[in-house]
Amino acid sequence: MKVLASVTHKPGQLSLEEVELAAPKASEALVKTIACGVCHTDAAALHSFIPVTLPIILGHEGVGIVEEVGSEVTTLKKGDRVIMSFPSCGKCDYCRDGRPYACDNLNTLFFDGTYNDGTKRFSQHTTDISSFFGQGAFADHVIVDARNAVKIEIESVDVLANLCSLGCGVQTGAGAVLNHIKPKKGESMAVFGCGAVGMSAIMAAVIAECSTIIGIDVVSERLELAKELGATHVINSNETDPVEVIKRITTGGVHSSVEASGVAKVTLQALACLRREGIAVLLSVTGPEEVSIPLEACLMNPSVTLKGLCEGGSNPQTFIPELVRFYKEGRLPVEKLVKFYDFKDIEKAFADSHTGLAIKPVLRF
Ligand SMILES: [Zn+2]
Ligand SMILES: [Zn+2]
Repeated sequence: MKVLASVTHKPGQLSLEEVELAAPKASEALVKTIACGVCHTDAAALHSFIPVTLPIILGHEGVGIVEEVGSEVTTLKKGDRVIMSFPSCGKCDYCRDGRPYACDNLNTLFFDGTYNDGTKRFSQHTTDISSFFGQGAFADHVIVDARNAVKIEIESVDVLANLCSLGCGVQTGAGAVLNHIKPKKGESMAVFGCGAVGMSAIMAAVIAECSTIIGIDVVSERLELAKELGATHVINSNETDPVEVIKRITTGGVHSSVEASGVAKVTLQALACLRREGIAVLLSVTGPEEVSIPLEACLMNPSVTLKGLCEGGSNPQTFIPELVRFYKEGRLPVEKLVKFYDFKDIEKAFADSHTGLAIKPVLRF
C-alpha cells in the first residue's frame, strides 16, 4: 500500500514523500499511526550521531490502531489500540528471560532498519527503506512485530496521542526507577536533566514514595514543571554546583541518581552526588563521548554502583500496561510534557525539541 512518510535520504533530511509499505508477515501487524513522539534518539539518528542505514524512516514512539494482523499473531486484532515500543528478537537468552531491553540483537533491530527476518518493509521505486526501531512511525501506517506492540484499553485517539512516549522516553525514565533502582519509601534521588526521560523518573520517584527528589536542569521553565510533577528541590546547574547543593540538602548525598541529560560529563556529577553504596543510572548518553572517572575515589572507596541501562530496563509487554494504569489514576500526568504538531510540521517539532521549547513534541497524523 502507498503511505505518506518522512524519509531521511541523507543526514538532517526529513522529507515528506509517498512510499510503499509491504503487507504484515506472520508475526506482524499493520498499524494506522495516530501519533508519534519525537525522541532525542531520533535526532541523534537524523544527524548520524548514531550510525543508521539510510534511507530511513525515523520515529519510534508511535501509537495507533491495528488494521490487519499476520497469521501467527494471537495478542492483537483489528481495531486494537496499541502503543508501539522497541523491538527485540524473542530468541536470545535475554529475551527468553523477559529482559528484551538487553536483547543480543538490539543494535541490528534498533538501527539497521530490518525486521527479525533480516528484511525491510518500506520501499520506494526499487530501493528498500529502513524502519527505525522496527517501527519507522514517522509514517501514517507502519508494520510492527507483535512483540513490540502493546494493546491498551483506551478508546479515545486524543487520549492515546498523549501516551506516545510510554513506548520509549517515559518507559526509560520510569523504568529505571521502578524496575531497577527500586527506591525504598523515604529515600532520596537526584535526577539530572528534566526532559521527558528525567521528568518520568521524577514522577516515578513520587510513585515510589521517595521523600527527597531533586531535579537538575539549565532551563528554569523545566525546573518549574519538575516541581509541579513532584520534585521537592530543583537546582539550576548553570547557576550553582549541583553536587554541593545536593550534598547539603541530603546531608551527605542521595541514595540514587539518574542521568537523563544526554551530556556525558554529567555522569561525574551523578556519581559524585551519591552517598556511600548509592547507585547512579545512565539513561541517555548517546554517541562516542568519553569521561575519565577516578576509580578509587569515585567508585571503589564509596562502594557505589554506576549502571548503564537501555530503555529503562523495561519489558514493554508488562511495564507499559502498568504505566497506563498509573496514567489513568492521575499518577503519571505525561500530558503535561506533550506539545502537539501536525505531521507536516515535523521539522519544527525537531527544532523545538532541540531548543527546549517542547519537552515532548508529538506529531499528529
Ligand atoms: Zn533478543
Ligand atoms: Zn527514544
